[in-house]
Amino acid sequence: MNKRSIFLTSSLICLGISILAIPQCMPGDHSIGSLYQWFSGWFSPQQRFDFKNLENKKNVFPIVIIGSGPAGLTAGLYGARAKKKTLIIEGTKPGGLLTETSYVENWPGHKAILGKDLMAGIREQVERLGASFIDDSVEKIDFSQWPFVITTDDGKIIYALAVVIATGASPSLLNIPGEKEYWGKGVTTCAICDAPFYNDKEVVVIGGGDSAVAEAIQLAAYAKKITILVRKDKMRAAGASQDLLTGYKHISVVYNVEPKEIVGDEKHVTGIKLLNNKTQETFHMPIDGVFLAIGHKPNTALFKGAVELDKNGYIVLKPHSMATSVPGVFAAGDVEDHRYRQAIVSAGDGSCAALDADAFLNEIGFNAEVAARLQDTQLVAARIMQSMVKHVASLSEFEEEIAKTAKPVFVDFYADYCPSCMQMLPHFNAVAQQFKDYALFISVDVTALPDIANKYHVNKIPCILIFKDGSIAARYTTAMSKKELCEIAAEYVGQTPCDKE
Ligand code: NDP
Repeated sequence: MNKRSIFLTSSLICLGISILAIPQCMPGDHSIGSLYQWFSGWFSPQQRFDFKNLENKKNVFPIVIIGSGPAGLTAGLYGARAKKKTLIIEGTKPGGLLTETSYVENWPGHKAILGKDLMAGIREQVERLGASFIDDSVEKIDFSQWPFVITTDDGKIIYALAVVIATGASPSLLNIPGEKEYWGKGVTTCAICDAPFYNDKEVVVIGGGDSAVAEAIQLAAYAKKITILVRKDKMRAAGASQDLLTGYKHISVVYNVEPKEIVGDEKHVTGIKLLNNKTQETFHMPIDGVFLAIGHKPNTALFKGAVELDKNGYIVLKPHSMATSVPGVFAAGDVEDHRYRQAIVSAGDGSCAALDADAFLNEIGFNAEVAARLQDTQLVAARIMQSMVKHVASLSEFEEEIAKTAKPVFVDFYADYCPSCMQMLPHFNAVAQQFKDYALFISVDVTALPDIANKYHVNKIPCILIFKDGSIAARYTTAMSKKELCEIAAEYVGQTPCDKE
């Protein structure tokens, strides 16, 4: 071996040892997000956040907010008031979980206000202040480059100088036998959408928190008997919430019971098997519906590996700030708050996140001159489409439409009191436009046409039924994004891929 080869070999060994040593000397987790953060520390802010990177880029926004619940909308309000062009990507549940609760009694300034009305009012205020909204969901993010890159379901590429993650949380499930099988056939998480299907029926609400109380009260106007099943010997709900239950004679609470299995006759739930965890006895309770209210899990799948998450999937924040592990990326609301989980706290967090984002932009030198260069920022305008969705006036007309076509028929069951249904209507319309030559698309308002819903056992909305050769070939009972709807439709009509805008 000559001197040169010895030098090269020893250099390579040293480099290898250094790379292996990196994770050992890094604090916290060793995910890609942390590695990025660790490496990015080698560069000065001027190098990392170089405004030359914005040249020739369209759809650049100083602040992009992902999510439109109380945290996202309030972040939008503060971003717009800071006169930084702010974009809110609304996601699949505009307005967030609050749109699915009934009356909110702990929002300052309102004695009681419907969750959906509260969110509609905030949205209107934020829009009036100048924030922009897009009705789309995020498909992927890239926080390893700056400006940050956000790709939406519709294929839009959006560049963000700062990001606020406000994707909230989703209802947890029990993971017991029968839950999946009877999902949409008597098992649900949304009383505001589905309570009207349980007129004069007997139902259980599972959980002991504020959501369980809200669900039970929402059901009280319809169901003849509501039993709240609590696994401990006391409820977790606030005292004031529990007091509300005393006003309803047909709501009762049973303590120390754990659901073990949901049973039914294949078409619909008929009962639930419960364990009394004090006596260890198992018993069967005949019921028609199961409303789950057992808490939530943070919607962070999109950010795994990009920002630091804790062991339960919540985004980890720097002390006394809303900053995540990636400089320029902030988080607010149920996606990071595992302690308080209150709408008002989420709104407060949203304001802090936007203030932090604003301070970050000022620190990296964002000013009026840079802002002026972004003036041509505009997202692709939505295409104006003629509706290809048919509306029927009666059960007989509905069945005639299905009988006379050889094509698959997609039916969207909705009601205007159901927020996720209203969100899905334009998506259904867009998918109908794309596949108009291959399938028939029908919308059914379950309030106006309950006989169609009854005949086809629709007791959870939104609900999409797909008919092939006159019979039901598939049933989907969860809220879906445009992309998800489109993929399902494409599969049934044998066409690919879904249009991107
Ligand atoms: P919570 O986490 O507060 O309560 C979840 C409930 O479900 C608990 O009673 C828990 O029992 C029970 N639970 C969890 N897993 C299971 C299981 N596998 N089997 C049976 N029971 C189970 O969630 P909520 O959705 O009720 O509330 C979330 C947050 O939102 C809270 O901070 C609440 O205050 C807030 N909220 C406020 C409202 C309002 O003010 N209007 C309305 C709704 C929610 P255990 O206690 O034994 O853990």
